Order: sequence, then structure tokens, then C-alpha cells
Amino acid sequence: MLVSLIIIALWAIAFFLGDRVVSPGFNVHPAAAGVAAATAIASFIAYFWGGVKHIQQLALSAYLLMTITTMLVIVTTGQIGSPFIALWMLVCVFGGIFGKYGLIPLALSATTYGIYIVTGLSGSRDELVIFVLAFLLPIFISYMIWHQKSDHEDKSDKAYTDLAKELSQVANKSEIVINAITDGVIAIDGKGMIQLINPAGQSIIGWAKQDALELDYRSVIKLTDNKDGALAAEMDPIQQVLNASKTIVNNEFTLTSNAGKKMTISLLVSPVGQLGAGAIIVFRDITSDVAEERQQAEFISTASHEMRTPVAAIEGYLGLALNPQTAAIDEKARLYLTKAHESAQHLGRLFQDLLDVSRAEDGRLKNNPSVVDVVTYARDITNSLLPSAQAKGLILLYKPDISAQAPARITPVYYSSLDNDHFREVLSNIIENAIKYTSAGDVTVDVGGDDEHVLISVKDTGIGIPHEDISHLFQKFYRVDNSATREIGGTGLGLYLSRRLVETMNGRIWVESEFNKGSVFYMEFPRISSEEASVQIEESTNRENPNYPQIVQS
Ligand code: ADP
Repeated sequence: MLVSLIIIALWAIAFFLGDRVVSPGFNVHPAAAGVAAATAIASFIAYFWGGVKHIQQLALSAYLLMTITTMLVIVTTGQIGSPFIALWMLVCVFGGIFGKYGLIPLALSATTYGIYIVTGLSGSRDELVIFVLAFLLPIFISYMIWHQKSDHEDKSDKAYTDLAKELSQVANKSEIVINAITDGVIAIDGKGMIQLINPAGQSIIGWAKQDALELDYRSVIKLTDNKDGALAAEMDPIQQVLNASKTIVNNEFTLTSNAGKKMTISLLVSPVGQLGAGAIIVFRDITSDVAEERQQAEFISTASHEMRTPVAAIEGYLGLALNPQTAAIDEKARLYLTKAHESAQHLGRLFQDLLDVSRAEDGRLKNNPSVVDVVTYARDITNSLLPSAQAKGLILLYKPDISAQAPARITPVYYSSLDNDHFREVLSNIIENAIKYTSAGDVTVDVGGDDEHVLISVKDTGIGIPHEDISHLFQKFYRVDNSATREIGGTGLGLYLSRRLVETMNGRIWVESEFNKGSVFYMEFPRISSEEASVQIEESTNRENPNYPQIVQS
């Protein structure tokens, strides 16, 4: 643009101020000035309004006009001796940018001019040398410079095209996979706007893709808790994932579809990218699964309940038959009846465990907490199991009692708010297991903790637990299967139930063990201070007092 403006200026000076002001070499012909004006306009348009789409065509047009302008000024300002030859050389160098569209017109113009020199001008050797050096050589150089470049560009273009093709193939495959998933999949961005919803998701929540996209997820995924109460913002699992970038799995939320249908869903929300960048929500309608599970649990519960009674009777009568004071039997019969009695006891325990498990699973497991002096209560429970330890020749130790014997040592009091029955069941189960899975040595029960927690541990010198089994130990029906455990009977429900009971008391349970050396089972519960314990004990005593003012519901 600048060059064409200079050319116009040169013409204007000569036109308005007279030919004498500019030397003949710079006296631009009006035709050249006209084309220069067109060039300037084309450059101006290309620069300011070209846009990405048309910039190439506009730039090429401006360039071709510039070539014509240059050729015209050369022809009109002294031919082969024109000072504008330098401009031609410059213009040529940029021709290669446009590839063949730039170079061919340049070559054509130069060739035409070359023919003109040979035929029209003197065609001297000097003129031909200048023509080759000034007119043809720059075109060749331009070709060399830009051809190399475009070669390189071609390669990167190809790489880019290949990559784009590959990405689009991957995108197609992902789309096929996402569309084929029978679980609902919704992707949201950091602002909670829906960016993707697969067909399964559309049919579960009853929203068409075009309606749901770019909507806030809260207006599409209407979640309530299992009691149908609205979710507070801090309880919203999707918001939690956006805020904390952690994965949430939950099977208890209720989802209301667009048509108002309520369903229990299995929900998995995972974060995407950096904190708060977005989330993927995967969900499935599990209403019928939950109903089926409830029916199964009810069946197991009823069946175990019904079967426990006759099994208890069998166990009782076998006990009577084995008791020398109530029955006289020979040794062979005693052997058979002892085995039958053991099996009946095992069956009785199995039914009891099944009953407890079904109670834990259908939400009937209630927690009735009261203040418990854990050291005293755990001592009672441990003592009640002394006979079974002694029967196996094991030493059952209660560590707080041993420590208390040390001079100048006061055993601290550990209070916790626990359900007495649950705590007894769990601790008995853990100590019974320690006795069951230990053939020689001792079992040590300890109570300790810090200001915030009470920690109960049961340590044995038994068979230990292989490392790979530890993470599965608290699952339903899980039993370590090896030569050491095969001989020992069990249901694999005790630890599962213990975990459920501990969790209802806001505690946690875990194990540390070394195979063939022994295990330590730990239970931890929140500790309450002595002052708080006294307040709670007083309150509960008052409540049991008939004279205590009761809150009457109208
Ligand atoms: P079970 O009725 O089989 O004892 P549990 O749920 O109480 O069921 O225990 C699950 C499994 O954990 C047991 O089968 C046993 O392999 C292992 N286990 C539990 N306690 C101990 C322990 N103190 N020492 C070694 N293994 C144990």
C-alpha cells in the first residue's frame, strides 16, 4: 500500500507542480498512477476488511495489481534504466508467497518484457544481462525461498490434516461408545452447564438433547435425598465434585424425571481436568434393583427367623441328650451327638448372622447411643469370653488391668457414646475370632486413645491374614481361603456385620496383620469428655424419672 501511495504521490507532484520538479526517472505516467491507486485500494481492503476467509484472494489481487503498477512505471520511466527496477526486484521476492499464482504472472510479465527488449529496444548484451539479473533472477530466488517454505508447510499441513483426521476418528468412536452406554452420561462445564447428554441419559430423565444442552444441570437433574427432601447446596454431589475435585459414588439419591417420575439412582460423579473445570455424571435407574434387594432381604430375614426356632430346639434337645444328668448314652452316641450339637450351634449362628445382616441392609439397624465407660464395659465383655479362651489353652489378657497394677499409674477413663448391644456384639465377635484363629499363645484386649478418640484393639498370635485378603475382609461372605482357615468353620458375615455396626456408631474398624504371625483388629470411636459424659448421664437419668417434665406432642 505504501509503495503504491508513493507512486501516486510522485505522479501528483509532477502533475500539480510541473515536470521540472521531479527528475524524468521518477516522472510517473498517469496510467501507472491509476493502477497504483487501484493497488492501494485493494491493499486497504485486504488489510482492514479481508477477514480470515478472503484475505488470501484479496492479498493476491493487491499483489498482482502491484506487479502491473511496477511494470508500468518501469516501462514509462526509462525502461531497463528505470530506477523502479529495484521496486520490481522487491516485488518479485514476495511473489513466492502466493506460489504459482504469484510466480506465473511474474514470469509472464518478465518474459513479455524480455521479448519487448529483444525486439523493441536495442537488445544489447548489457540490456540482456540487466534483464536476466534484475527481472528473472529475483523470480527464481523468490521461488527458491518460498518453495522450500511451502514444502515444509505442506508437510506440517499434512501432519495437521492427519492429526485432525485421527482426532475426528477418535471423537467418532467416543461418541459411538458414549451413545451405546446404557447408563445415562451427562457432561457439564465449570459453570454447571450441560455440554453432553447421551441417549440413555435423555430417556432416563426425559429431556431431549437439544433442550438440555447449555442448560444449568440443576434444572435437568433434579435430585432429592432418599426421604424426598430437597438437597442443600453443600449436599449436592455434583456441586461437591466441582468444588473439591473428588469422585462421588452414591446409590441413595432420588431423581425426578421431566415427567415427574421418581426413581432411585446409582450416581457416579467424577471431576474433569482442573479443579472446577467440569464433571461427568453417570447415573442409572436402580429402583427395581432396590425393590428386588429389599424383597430378598425380607425373604432371608423371614426365613432365618422361622428356621432359627426349630434349630434352637434341636440345639436344646441335643444339649439335654449330651448332659449326663438328663440322659444316659453310650460313648459312640455321645460322639455323634456332639458333632450334631456343634453343627446345630453353627447353623444357629448362621441364621442369627443372616438375620442381623438383613437388618443392617434394610435400614432396620437402629443406633441407641448412651454414655459408655469403655474400659469397664470392654472388661466385662472380655471376661465373658475367658472360658472359650481357656478351653483352647489360650491366655486372654485385658491390658488396662495389667497396666493399672504398675506403681503410680492411673488408668484414664474413656467415655464414648455407643449402642451397648452393638458394641458388645462387635467386640465379642472380634475377640471370638482372635480365639478361633489362634492355636497357641495369647489374645490381648486394650483400650486407649487420645482427647478425641477411644481406640480398642484386639491382638492375637494366631494364623494372621495374607496381605491380599486384608482389603476384602470386611465384605459380605468373605473368608480367607487357605489350608489354615479351611478347617475352621465360619460364615464370613461376622466382620461385615461388625463394620456395619461400628459405622452406625460413627466409628471405624480396621486390621493390621502379618501372615503366620498374628493380627491386631482396631476399633475407633469418638471420645466424649468426662464433663460431657456426666451431663449426658444426668439427662438420661432424669428422662427415665417419671417426675421429669416430658415434652408433650399435641
Ligand atoms: P468367619 O465366620 O469366617 O469367622 P468373619 O467375617 O468373622 O467370618 O471373618 C472373615 C475372615 O477373616 C475369616 O474367615 C478369617 O479368614 C479372617 N479372620 C478374621 N479374624 C481373624 C483373626 N483374628 N486372625 C486371622 N484371620 C481372621
